[in-house]
Amino acid sequence: MKTGFVGWRGMVGSVLMDRMQQERDFDLLEPTFFTTSQVGQAGPDLGAGSTPLLDAYSLDDLAHLDVILTAQGGDYTKNVYSALRDRGWKGFWIDAASALRMREDAVLVLDPVNGARIEEAIAGGARTFCGANCTVSLMLMALGGLFEAGQVEWLSSMTYQAASGAGAAQLRELVAQTVALADAVGEDWNDPEVSVLELERRVTAALRDEAFPHESFGAPLAASLLAYIDSAMPGGQTREEWKGMAETNKILGQDPPVPVDGICVRVGALRCHSQAFTIKLRDPLPLDEVEQRIASANDWVRVVENTRDATFSELTPTAVSGTLSVPIGRIRKLAMGDHYLGAFSVGDQLLWGAAEPLRRVLRTILAS
Ligand code: NAP
Repeated sequence: MKTGFVGWRGMVGSVLMDRMQQERDFDLLEPTFFTTSQVGQAGPDLGAGSTPLLDAYSLDDLAHLDVILTAQGGDYTKNVYSALRDRGWKGFWIDAASALRMREDAVLVLDPVNGARIEEAIAGGARTFCGANCTVSLMLMALGGLFEAGQVEWLSSMTYQAASGAGAAQLRELVAQTVALADAVGEDWNDPEVSVLELERRVTAALRDEAFPHESFGAPLAASLLAYIDSAMPGGQTREEWKGMAETNKILGQDPPVPVDGICVRVGALRCHSQAFTIKLRDPLPLDEVEQRIASANDWVRVVENTRDATFSELTPTAVSGTLSVPIGRIRKLAMGDHYLGAFSVGDQLLWGAAEPLRRVLRTILAS
């Protein structure tokens, strides 16, 4: 199939390119690479030389394709998708952005959780497929076994989201902020004559200095955190928080919907979103049954022993970055009663939270 890639050099796009090369997906399709800002420059070299990048806004060039996979962003999708469909384009549109997710004709893809619904949709003529919000996908990869058993009465997820979840520019800015903090103390961090309070004062002064790099995030993130992600929604939620309930229930095809809510927080992790869950179970299941249901839901979720050693070695962004593993640990009953479960999970939001479900739906489409 003639397949066009838009947004291939961003955070999600680069991870997607890596995974597609690892899995030899390019052997199965005829790729064309597009750009919104570098028309005519060299495209990626996948082993057979590179070709010049085409204009991602050229409907004429896009209209020849059987499949368009975009990890460019919502503004691009809004700009191009309807115009292309209005011209009668009937190809497969696969998208990392949120712009089309809640359309009735769009299928949210996370095949370890809703694979049967995806295949049914393709057979039924669906042509628009969207990856879900990264924390939602990672939450369902971790807790799919409890949802499948109908055991989740409601769920609260408090998130600790990595800088790279916001994009390439933000990841670079977090690194720049870290360098600026190191510059603020110089070699004095290692001088016993300089008190720790003096070090803290210098770091805090650097963070509060207008010259501190903060253009992309809007505020310092290194040595701090930001408890607001995306835009405002009615009721005081942010859009990121609103997606939790809307997208979870759309992926599961759940009606009436399971309430999902929480507070989404950006932290100074580079890669990998973490989440602390409070879950109200329908039945007071024993912990070993909870763990068994969680662990058996898919090939990537992994229950981590509730110990300090296991948590430090297996349940951190440092341990999980760049892997498809979705560990979940700190599983225990909460003080509120036997129906209340606490757990903590970490997952690579660029893999299962973004690129991997898109890569896998592309494979399913190519095989259909
Ligand atoms: P991104 O890193 O900002 O990349 C998006 C595009 O920005 C690139 O494809 C590139 O397009 C352009 N760009 C401009 N300067 C760049 C630079 N210096 N380096 C690389 N690219 C540059 O965005 P993203 O994080 O991949 O997100 C893409 C979409 O996926 C968004 O809708 C986002 O909401 C969604 N998503 C992201 C994540 C995540 O963890 N980041 C997770 C789930 C969903 P041109 O080549 O056309 O200039």
